[in-house]
Amino acid sequence: MIDSHAHLDFCEPSNAELVAEALEAGVTRILTVGTDASSSRAALAAAAEFPSVFAAVGHHPNNATGFSGADRAELRELAADPLCRAVGETGFDQYRDGAPLEDQRLAFEAQIEIAAELHKPLIIHTRDADDLSIETLREQASGVRVILHCFTMPTRLEECLAEGWWISFAGNVTYPKATELAAACALVPDDRLLVETDAPYLTPQPRRSERNTPAKVVQTAEFVARQRGVGYASFDRLIDDNAAELFGW
Ligand SMILES: [Zn+2]
Repeated sequence: MIDSHAHLDFCEPSNAELVAEALEAGVTRILTVGTDASSSRAALAAAAEFPSVFAAVGHHPNNATGFSGADRAELRELAADPLCRAVGETGFDQYRDGAPLEDQRLAFEAQIEIAAELHKPLIIHTRDADDLSIETLREQASGVRVILHCFTMPTRLEECLAEGWWISFAGNVTYPKATELAAACALVPDDRLLVETDAPYLTPQPRRSERNTPAKVVQTAEFVARQRGVGYASFDRLIDDNAAELFGW
C-alpha cells in the first residue's frame, strides 16, 4: 500500500517513527506534500533521507496571500528536484478566510504551468470552490495529469472522470455520514483511483480518536476495497501500480 498524500512536517512523531510505523503496516511509499516553500523544502529533505518517501512541491491556497513572482521562481526551482514527483497542493479554498481569491488564482496558475513544464502530476485541493476549481483545470490544465486530493465532490464525479482526472480518497470517506462519498469510491475506474491519509488530518473512522499518520491509510484502503467488493490484496496491488505509474517510483 501507499499513501498518496501526507504532511510529514505537520505530524508530531518524527519522520523516522512515521516511516517505520508505515512500513510495519505495509505502507511502502509516502508522498509528503509541501504547502509553501519551506514546507516543500522539508518534504524534499524527508525524501532525501528515507527511501520510501517522495515529495510534492507546492503552495497551498490558504497560504497564497501575496503570492509573487519570486514565490513562483522558488517553487519552480524546488519542483525540478528529481525527488519531487508532483506539484501542489494547489487549487481554491473558499471555506476558510484564507488568502484573497486573486492570490489563490495566481498561485494555482503558476503551479499548473510548472506541472506542465516539468511533466509532473498536479495535486488539487478544492474546498467550497468546486465550480471554480473544475473550470480552471478544464481551461488551463489540459495535458496535465490531475489528482483530486481528498475527493469531496461526489456529485461531480462523472465530470471529473470524463476529464481523465485521478480521484484520491482520504479518511473522511470512512465517516458514517459520508454516504455519497462512500458510494462514489465504488464508481471510480480502477486506473483512476488512489488513497491517502492527508495526515495528520482526517483519521479514518476505526481510529478516529487518534491523530492521523501514514500507516492509517490501510484503514481507508480496507474501507474502499470493501465498498468496491474486492479483496485487500488485489486492491493493494492496484493502488501500488497506479501510484507507481503516476509518481514514477
Ligand atoms: Zn493536504
